[in-house]
Amino acid sequence: MRVDVFTIFPEMVAGFAGQSLLGRAAAKGLVDVRVHDLREHTTDVHRTVDDTPFGGGAGMVLMPEPIFASVETADPPRPLLLLGPGGRRFDQGVARELAAGEGFSLLCGRYEGVDDRVRTELCDGELSIGDYVLGGGEVAAMVVLEAVGRLVPGVMGNAASAGEESFSDGLLEYPQYTKPAVFRGLEVPAVLRSGDHGRVARWRRAQALRRTVRDRPDLIEARGGLSAEEQALVEELAGDDPPPRR
Ligand code: SAH
Repeated sequence: MRVDVFTIFPEMVAGFAGQSLLGRAAAKGLVDVRVHDLREHTTDVHRTVDDTPFGGGAGMVLMPEPIFASVETADPPRPLLLLGPGGRRFDQGVARELAAGEGFSLLCGRYEGVDDRVRTELCDGELSIGDYVLGGGEVAAMVVLEAVGRLVPGVMGNAASAGEESFSDGLLEYPQYTKPAVFRGLEVPAVLRSGDHGRVARWRRAQALRRTVRDRPDLIEARGGLSAEEQALVEELAGDDPPPRR
């Protein structure tokens, strides 16, 4: 998979993409992240990428020329997605869609944003990571890169872990524990230490359901409620919940 990122802060994104999960994915040849510096396509000595907004108002706007030139030179994989608070909300479903393709590209705005002709004439869509305003698209690009990158086949060590985690079945994940079995008097649920794989699977399924009902009822509603079998499981294992959050 190839992902091209256009930004005025290439070191930020390249540094992130070179480490940990994405760094290993690149070393294995699974994900090819190419970061492009929008300033490389400026024509003046100051390498100017922004100017004041027509119509007045505070702040600066990224000019269309360097962005068009940069994208046209790189000929990046499509869709080219502009990062911006007005875009389609990025979630696990969008991450799956992007991971299923051969590649895509991200354009990071800065300051007050980008000239709107970039959005309408150059980009194929707009992506938001949430209802808040960042200083630039770089952090948003890193969020998208990481969430998509870990879904690319072969990137995660244990392929099964992506199939069982939060959102994979419209549910949050069950609680996880590791050693020690007793930490400051807090005991790991006995069923997880029983060695009985059938009981462990049932407990985890019930916990995922109970936790989602309690913390994210909107997710339960989105998947059309609980089936009769799920409802029964949730009730049967009701006494086994971990203590509530402190
Ligand atoms: N003036 C704009 C905000 C610009 S923020 C407005 O009011 O809508 C500067 C840049 O940060 C944007 O161009 C975008 O690339 C990025 N950005 C800000 N918030 C974002 C979000 N929630 N999701 C994705 N990108 C965001």
